[in-house]
Amino acid sequence: MRRKIVAGNWKMNLVREQAVLLAKEISNERKIDGVELMIFPPFVFVDPITQQIGTDLKVGVQDIYFETSGAFTGEISIAQAKSVGAGIALIGHSERRELFNETNTILKKKVDAALSGQIDFIFCCGEPLNIRKTGREYDFVKIQLEESLFHLSEEEIKKVIIAYEPIWAIGTGETASTEQAEEMHAAIRSWLMERYSEQTAEIIPILYGGSCKPDNAKELFACKNVDGGLIGGASLKTSDFIAIANSF
Ligand code: PEP
Repeated sequence: MRRKIVAGNWKMNLVREQAVLLAKEISNERKIDGVELMIFPPFVFVDPITQQIGTDLKVGVQDIYFETSGAFTGEISIAQAKSVGAGIALIGHSERRELFNETNTILKKKVDAALSGQIDFIFCCGEPLNIRKTGREYDFVKIQLEESLFHLSEEEIKKVIIAYEPIWAIGTGETASTEQAEEMHAAIRSWLMERYSEQTAEIIPILYGGSCKPDNAKELFACKNVDGGLIGGASLKTSDFIAIANSF
């Protein structure tokens, strides 16, 4: 059976006290067995959070740089992220791609750095609205995977979590329909099968992201190829985040 994962991307929200409180609240809630919970607070709060919560909640960073150290002002290395307790990173979130010009080539380097630096990661992919409107979403997402991920060996790809996040559904209140989500997730799994093997494709978790909320999570998570969610806005409220996690 595949892992079930609900991950909260807090983006550039909250200040220290609020962040620690939210993490503690989430950590103290009762959770469904077998559902892994992860939070991605702003980097500066990873340390105070990991000092104060238990290991039932995995804490990650929203981005990493691919170099190991040196003159890269403002960037964070994998060793630095791990040294404050981060066990996982987001790679290729659409906001990084769109606002900070992260290309498939740059993301390939981040993927390789994460593997050599031994940090888990969620690789994000997804198409913008103009691509969906012109019916090119499958080609677009496939190229994102081929150019940043599919150079990995079969052993390496098994460590990856993928998040499909249609950009037109992120922070817009517009969710992909269950059919749209399931179709893309099934396509991603079929490409994994073609490139690697059926066995490998079957074990890789594929999360959905894009205006996932307590009232639509159940339907989305019931889809055969949807193994959980990457949650933005709704992850900033304990009751909503937990309700989403308990939707399985
Ligand atoms: C996200 O940023 O990854 C996301 C899915 O945001 P939201 O849930 O707010 O659409």
